[in-house]
Amino acid sequence: MASPTVLRGVPVVPGVQYAPVVRAARLPEVPVPGADIDEADRQAEAGRFAAAATAVASRLRDRAAHATGAASEVLAATATLAQDRAWLGAAEKRIAAGASAVRATAEAVDQFVELFTQLGGLMAERVTDLRDIRDRVIAELSGLPEPGVPLPDVPSILCAEDLAPADTAGLDPRLVVGLATTLGGPTSHTAIIARQLGIPCVVAISGLDAVAAGVMVLLDGAAGTLTVDPDASQAAASVAAAQREALAARQWTGPGATADGHTVPILANVQDGAAARAARETFAEGVGLFRTELCFLNRDTEPNVDEQAKIYGEVLEAFAGHKVVVRTLDAGSDKPLKFAGHPEEANPALGVRGIRVAQGNPGLLDRQLTAVAAAAGQTGNRPWVMAPMIATAAEAKSFADQARSHGLTPGVMIEVPAAALLADKILQHVDFLSIGTNDLAQYTMAADRMSADLAVLTDPWQPAVLALVAMAARAGAAAGKPVGVCGEAAADPLLAAVLVGLEVTSLSMAPAAISAVGAKLAQVTRRQCRAAAEAVLDTATAAEARAVALAALS
Ligand code: PEP
Ligand code: MG
Repeated sequence: MASPTVLRGVPVVPGVQYAPVVRAARLPEVPVPGADIDEADRQAEAGRFAAAATAVASRLRDRAAHATGAASEVLAATATLAQDRAWLGAAEKRIAAGASAVRATAEAVDQFVELFTQLGGLMAERVTDLRDIRDRVIAELSGLPEPGVPLPDVPSILCAEDLAPADTAGLDPRLVVGLATTLGGPTSHTAIIARQLGIPCVVAISGLDAVAAGVMVLLDGAAGTLTVDPDASQAAASVAAAQREALAARQWTGPGATADGHTVPILANVQDGAAARAARETFAEGVGLFRTELCFLNRDTEPNVDEQAKIYGEVLEAFAGHKVVVRTLDAGSDKPLKFAGHPEEANPALGVRGIRVAQGNPGLLDRQLTAVAAAAGQTGNRPWVMAPMIATAAEAKSFADQARSHGLTPGVMIEVPAAALLADKILQHVDFLSIGTNDLAQYTMAADRMSADLAVLTDPWQPAVLALVAMAARAGAAAGKPVGVCGEAAADPLLAAVLVGLEVTSLSMAPAAISAVGAKLAQVTRRQCRAAAEAVLDTATAAEARAVALAALS
């Protein structure tokens, strides 16, 4: 039998399900009249349009009132967008100029879709919401049933180009057991709702449009794959294995160690005091990455030393008596800070970001280190500090000297291939390394980490990325200094075991991933981890790397 087709996308919510495909109903082709309507009828047409938009918004609001949590918020946000004066005004203007309500709706939404797409980022992800509103208003104007998700009779995996928030918000997780989309990013509404429902979700799957309703598929929300028409018994075995893993994760209580007792602290990534306090409720043994820049994204001016000390102190206090690694401001690229004085750049990911900001503005780093030292004094918890985006040993030395002058223990992040290649030289100046696999993958593969189209390249399983991780970890082992991983790679249980085999000494991740990673490590021996690491380093593709790791670690 030919092997089944495996489609790949971006994993968003872990879990494995085997079920038939159900597809969201699209709006049928509605003829859009080209000819202008008579002047005398335009006012009535504007009234028809206003009534349709209001009906759509009030139905969405009604559903919001009957839903809970994120689903309710998403529906309410879509209802608000349906009543947004900007696009309604653009449509009304067109109707006043002679367009039919259907044409005015289509054209006005297109205008805003273009604008949102140009703005990019979170705005671009609202394009799906806008298109959804357009389809609902046009259906209402045309007397057609509202487009959306049909209620399946058996548990099914919902596949769509992209899911409108209003589609996903009303889903019943007993009937829709997985989500798969052709478009969408990890922060799209589809992803938010899937997380809330706790159902596996993969987005940005190429080739998904060709998978018809009713076909059996295996969706793996951790691996980011959708297997079309797999062998039924193998698929059932995969689902059962995922269920066992979920159970083991629920039962895991720390601390991080392999089955044969090799300890690997499992730490949390946090962005402020509230996140640190929430992380303290998990089995996190400390904080491996405190992303300080995320505290200040909305600030126009630099917070003074006292204010910074108070903010950092909250995290130190939440993890009193435990390890905390504070990262100095990683400003620039996708996280610009108004007060960092970023220059206009054609290519900000390769521009002045991370430690490079400090070169033009040394006082900024010095004030931050002063604040960290003050927070340490106030709380009695002495954190380690690390600098992002280090590319040379000279940068590492300069940061280390500055941090030590404040009485702090210095380390650097390994996010740039140059730093991984010269990790041994960098380690002559600092006390530890922390590998940021998100940026290391971006810069190794020359692929934008924000691009859903390039997600296959920025996969941390890429053997080239893992070869650099291995170099940095080996340099640490030779120098007798700790080398942690704090990028997303550490949050993938299978990859975490490989990282341990590569001699990584700690793993830091989003708190939600801690139990699954801890449970996986507890099931494997250090020897297995090392065998997996060796096998992975001998592969040529990410898929092959995953496969050999799976074989060595199950
Ligand atoms: C990384 O690049 O892997 C990392 C942890 O830093 P950030 O995701 O904040 O860029
Ligand atoms: Mg980074």
